[in-house]
Amino acid sequence: MLDALFKPRSIAVIGASTKELSIGNVIIHNLQHYGYKGAIYPINPSAPDVRGIKAYPNLAAVPGEIDLAHIIIPSRFVPQAMEECGEKGIKAVIINSAGFKEMGEEGARLQEAFLATAKKYGIRVFGPNCQGIINTDPDLKAYCNFTFTFPRPGFISVVALSGGVGALIMQGLADLGIGMRMYASNGNACDVSISDILSYWGEDPLTKAIVLYTEGVSDAKQFLDVAKRVATRKPLLAMMAGRTEQGAKAASSHTGALAGAGKITELIFEKAGILSFQDEGEMVRAAMAFASQPIPAGNRVGIITNTGGPAVIATDVLVAAGLDVPVLSGPSIARLRKALLPQAAVENPVDVVATASGAHFRAALDVLMDESGVDSIFINFVTPPFSDTGAIARQIVEVNRLGKKPIVCNFMTNLAQERFRMTGQILQEGGVPCYANPSDAARALGALARYGRLKRRGGVEPSEPLPRSDSAKARAVIARNRKSGRTVLSAADVYAIFEAYGIAVAPWRVVETAADAVLAAEAIGYPVVVKVDSEQIDHKSDMGGVVVNLTDAAAVRSTIETMRERFRSFAGLRFLVQKFLPNGRELIIGATADDQLGHLVMFGLGGIYVELLQDVVFKLAPITRTEAAEMLKLVKLSAVLDGVRGQAGVNKESVQNIILRVSNLLLDLPMIEEMDINPVMAFADTAFAVDGRIRILASGLKGDSP
Ligand code: ADP
Ligand code: MG
Repeated sequence: MLDALFKPRSIAVIGASTKELSIGNVIIHNLQHYGYKGAIYPINPSAPDVRGIKAYPNLAAVPGEIDLAHIIIPSRFVPQAMEECGEKGIKAVIINSAGFKEMGEEGARLQEAFLATAKKYGIRVFGPNCQGIINTDPDLKAYCNFTFTFPRPGFISVVALSGGVGALIMQGLADLGIGMRMYASNGNACDVSISDILSYWGEDPLTKAIVLYTEGVSDAKQFLDVAKRVATRKPLLAMMAGRTEQGAKAASSHTGALAGAGKITELIFEKAGILSFQDEGEMVRAAMAFASQPIPAGNRVGIITNTGGPAVIATDVLVAAGLDVPVLSGPSIARLRKALLPQAAVENPVDVVATASGAHFRAALDVLMDESGVDSIFINFVTPPFSDTGAIARQIVEVNRLGKKPIVCNFMTNLAQERFRMTGQILQEGGVPCYANPSDAARALGALARYGRLKRRGGVEPSEPLPRSDSAKARAVIARNRKSGRTVLSAADVYAIFEAYGIAVAPWRVVETAADAVLAAEAIGYPVVVKVDSEQIDHKSDMGGVVVNLTDAAAVRSTIETMRERFRSFAGLRFLVQKFLPNGRELIIGATADDQLGHLVMFGLGGIYVELLQDVVFKLAPITRTEAAEMLKLVKLSAVLDGVRGQAGVNKESVQNIILRVSNLLLDLPMIEEMDINPVMAFADTAFAVDGRIRILASGLKGDSP
């Protein structure tokens, strides 16, 4: 519970200062200016009062109870101040001061010291090196922050590690004329984390949507769990800047190397059902739509416009955002024809034309609200000097109040003119999200629709248990390798594990001699492939360790002889004889372990596609069936899977099943550091693994006892 932090009934300011513009003065000014309803206790060893409020030399001298304390004194005094907070029974502190972990060893020691004291007393610590919090609740008005934007009450709560970005978002919302519910910028986040704040706001009924800015999450697992839970209740809009350490992880397999290019936080957002943004301005503008509009039931937009060009731009942007601007139904078109001016266009976009009155706009809005082929409404409203723009705005507001379908408005005007400023005010007060240009408005509606898709997708259903999983057998194979200290498994062990999870493998045998190879080839049936099998060889074909399409015994024998010669320096040399499966589409399915989150699973097009284009997608395990299908769609060249230029497509179901089986395998076997199936040979009717690689952690590290 973070009530003491976000709903403090009284606040002490340790380091309150009489010096104007110092933080210890600004914070008190802000509390006063914003109209804080609780008691303020400036703590200052010498001043009798600060900003007209009676000051106390120390916390012990304060007569009343204190919920929250700001600490604004030099870092070396903070541990002692924390002790005094504990003695006074304070429940939360905001440490605005810097000079801790971010400053190196000495600072880190101070941070540890005050944290230990806080823990002893059960004090929650916000910061250090941070701005603070704001609660706009009219009954509280807690502005525990030194920033300069004074938001009005609203329904969006904002959290940002970075104070600079937090202030930017807060100002952005204010510029758009939208209110805010709560705000938090927690700097070093040594105790109260973003996850804690999300969790708290998840329970706050007046927070209708949450905006989050972060530069990566340190408590990935907790964050994912909390975000998943909160995202089922309210929209979470988030932006993450900066990349992860993943790339630094030395990795020899494709999956490991390619995971570096993927952003793990993006995967967490996706898994949790968080709507992610690349642009902070776009996120803030979208938040405005989320604050007042319902979520569209589908992707179909009806456009009402009183000007031509902007509707064309809007249509382009809407379509690029995955929306659709369909032709309206016959009855709707007929109704519009009757209600609108003769010059009006009535199919969609509905161009009511510049001379349209409020009544014309209203008629168009009513038709689109009734039209079952439309899920949301986009309005282009330019303010012609010759029309009653106030009347138009009032009609839009009236329809908006019904809350039936989401409306966004591109309101193009000159706000310097009083008359048009008034029109804008009618829209704003009526809760119509207004934007200054068609692209911004279209992208905001695009975000609403994207969120609708995210919600409908579900996506967090548990992974399905698949038939034919023999985890005991797979564990036994792993246990044997760990016992012998081997971390890169042999081909035979890799395929045995695949088969234990029902992954189809091209028929294979492992042999040591040419004679056995011929016997194996005969049992498998020609043509076959011969591959070298050694722990020390990663990319077999690069070293001449793969020969395909061997059609008879003589060819098998001579291939084995040649390879034996070529690889004679490798100990424990064996060979894999495998069924040759020509003319398949080569795909790659792989996985790499993350310290906190389990495994990242990768899917992509194999062969040159993975080498040159890095055309791969990642998702966090466990993978659901929906997600497996999405992975196939998300690769850039997914059209290749459907077949191109007379080449047959692949059986997607079979490929998705391999992804799901790999996901199941990974859940059972957390000690797998990296694995890939490269390639999966996919055909019009089936798919097989023809090459596999598994690297496990040495014994004693992870997943030892089942
Ligand atoms: P590596 O990746 O270690 O070089 P692979 O076993 O993946 O070795 O073989 C290299 C390439 O040979 C594959 O990408 C594929 O094009 C081809 N190949 C391997 N095995 C088969 C097979 N059973 N059927 C058809 N082609 C194969
Ligand atoms: Mg390979």
